[in-house]
Amino acid sequence: MSLRVRLTWLYTSLMGGLILSLGLAVYSMVRVDLVYNIDILLERTANDIIHNARIDAAGNLDLVNLRTLNLTENLLIQVWGRDGRLLASSENARQFTNSIDLIEAQAVHPAYRDNYIGTLHLRVLSVPLVVNQRKIGLLQVGTNLNLVEQTQRSLLNVLIITALVAMVLAGLISWLIIGHALAPLEMITRVATNITAADDLSRRISLSAPTHDEVGQLIQAFNQTLSRLEHLFTAQRRFLTDVSHELRTPLTVIKGNVGLMRHVHSVDEESLLSIENEVDRLTRLVGDLLLLAQAESGKIPLDMQPVELDTLLFEVFQQMRILAGDHLQVKLVEIDQLKVTGDRDRLKQVLLNLGGNAIKYTPAGGSIQIGLYRSGNQARVVISDSGTGISAEDLPHIFERFYRSEKSRTRSHEDGGFGLGLSIAYWIVRQHDGRIEVDSKEGQGTTFCIWLPLSTK
Ligand code: ADP
Repeated sequence: MSLRVRLTWLYTSLMGGLILSLGLAVYSMVRVDLVYNIDILLERTANDIIHNARIDAAGNLDLVNLRTLNLTENLLIQVWGRDGRLLASSENARQFTNSIDLIEAQAVHPAYRDNYIGTLHLRVLSVPLVVNQRKIGLLQVGTNLNLVEQTQRSLLNVLIITALVAMVLAGLISWLIIGHALAPLEMITRVATNITAADDLSRRISLSAPTHDEVGQLIQAFNQTLSRLEHLFTAQRRFLTDVSHELRTPLTVIKGNVGLMRHVHSVDEESLLSIENEVDRLTRLVGDLLLLAQAESGKIPLDMQPVELDTLLFEVFQQMRILAGDHLQVKLVEIDQLKVTGDRDRLKQVLLNLGGNAIKYTPAGGSIQIGLYRSGNQARVVISDSGTGISAEDLPHIFERFYRSEKSRTRSHEDGGFGLGLSIAYWIVRQHDGRIEVDSKEGQGTTFCIWLPLSTK
């Protein structure tokens, strides 16, 4: 059963149930109210008759002259003597020789009762007539309830017809409204099926519904998921292309060198060195890829220990000085004594990577500054250089896998990295609950900042 049919069915049943309960309540209230009014009329009539009754000297009930009373024709009245004789009765009650309510004929308290005589449905009030604590007779006042029943029957008919019409209308209206509300969902399903069939993640659902309602939000969420999937697929495709590209170059060099050696029938030291370099490069690439895969999936094994960040940074500083040689000026501007919890080797790898990049991308004569500061409950490592800087288009992408600026791509093959270093650094810092930020101006220099939570121990 479709959702539309189920919802329509649900609303119609609900509406039916509601009308039914309401109808039942109205029906019972009308009956109670009518009977209540009849009972008041019966009681008032009985009181009138009792006030007009006369008692003879012997204390017996004298004949009650009903004619003197102004009675409505629908009222049946019987006055019974102590000996069970009918002393008086209204004109319309003459047809009844027996009591109009035999069950209450001996009533000792006033009592109301519904009684059937043949097809006639009566409401009867039986009132014992008592003088000086002696029952001298019984007064029975009754009225025909057929009118009440007729009213109730008519009411029931009206209720049934109204309920049926309301249910049909409710069904129709909810069918239309639900159909209208579900139309965007059908469209989403159609688009999703088309996307799957055409294998085209660039398609989007056009937003015809208002953005603030549930369907609008669903469409937005769906489109966002599609964008994310498209981005992931594109990234994966690019990743494969990049890996193949990175693998091809060293393999071509190795093959060329092997071919050369075979051609000259001798082992050439220079070719061997070149092969060794390329094998090292390949090994580095595979190592980096493995590390990145682990880091991205959050499965990188980290040996978390208290780390004295100042000591670590000092070691990095010294290594950088050796690497920079006389070409660059590497300065340690400020170093606070700070402790973080982390994997010392991995943190050193990150710092060396940033330091290495600073050296790599700063031309001779430039300077690099290193600092470690306390910012609230965080440690901030700053490595800034006066190098080439990163262009505004490249800046948002530098933490992506294999991303290298155009300039870096055109660098010499041995010198250029794979464009994985910053991705790895990003994930390692993230796994230390920290963050890494970059600020750069082309031609002026670059500043990398790493924030790490300070150790509480
Ligand atoms: P690579 O191995 O190519 O250095 P990274 O992931 O470490 O890979 O860096 C990605 C890219 O970011 C680099 O190719 C370079 O274009 C840019 N980059 C990183 N650090 C700097 C820097 N200090 N100055 C200028 N450009 C930088």
